[in-house]
Amino acid sequence: MIRQLRASGGMWFEVNDTRMLVDPGPGCLVRVNKSRPPLKSSYLDAIFVSHKHIDHTNDVNVMIEAMTDGGFNKKGILFCPHEALENPPVIFPYALKFLEKVIEVSASSFYKVKELDIKIPLLMRHQTETYGFIIESKNLPSIGYIPDTEFFPEIITAYKGTDILIVNVVFSQPRPGVMHLGLPEALEIITEVKPKKAILTHFGMTMLKERIWEKTEHLSKQTFIDIIAASDGMTFKL
Ligand SMILES: [Zn+2]
Ligand SMILES: [Zn+2]
Repeated sequence: MIRQLRASGGMWFEVNDTRMLVDPGPGCLVRVNKSRPPLKSSYLDAIFVSHKHIDHTNDVNVMIEAMTDGGFNKKGILFCPHEALENPPVIFPYALKFLEKVIEVSASSFYKVKELDIKIPLLMRHQTETYGFIIESKNLPSIGYIPDTEFFPEIITAYKGTDILIVNVVFSQPRPGVMHLGLPEALEIITEVKPKKAILTHFGMTMLKERIWEKTEHLSKQTFIDIIAASDGMTFKL
């Protein structure tokens, strides 16, 4: 089950008894505590940070505190790029000590969190070191996450065969040099990767102004792929 909180609040992945929080941006703690059905931060097994920008990490320290009962229950794995830990670090050294393990992720690597197999396909092209993932678990569809990045064709090869594709789409039109996906580029990736379902998220103003959620039916017909637009607090059942 995926619980998509606010675009800036992060995503909560839950497969049986394994729980991983992804990109805990501003408002994450509040959204988690207010969610219905309730989410319990202390049940988290891992936190995944795609890159150090504040919309993906603002609440990471407080979520480490929440996961570890303020550090009294040392546990959990933090996945993050090396750059998130330096110049300056966005995860405080004191909070790192609360974790059982800190894994600096790299391209073409594999990790395990209880029932989840996590593959890091490639380095994204963004202003700072950024990684997405493909999650696989027994008898469930695979989930790919394409975080902030500019378009480059290797993304398509890397995510091919993913059942559910989550794509951060900031602009309605490509903006060369800004290192974010525009909708036409995201659609090119989706059309080529051919997932069973694509979830668009992380909308900037141009996507909101164009009321992207009203256009997904048309986009699905155009691409022959079921495309949905994420909304605040959205729950997606696998
Ligand atoms: Zn970013
Ligand atoms: Zn972002």
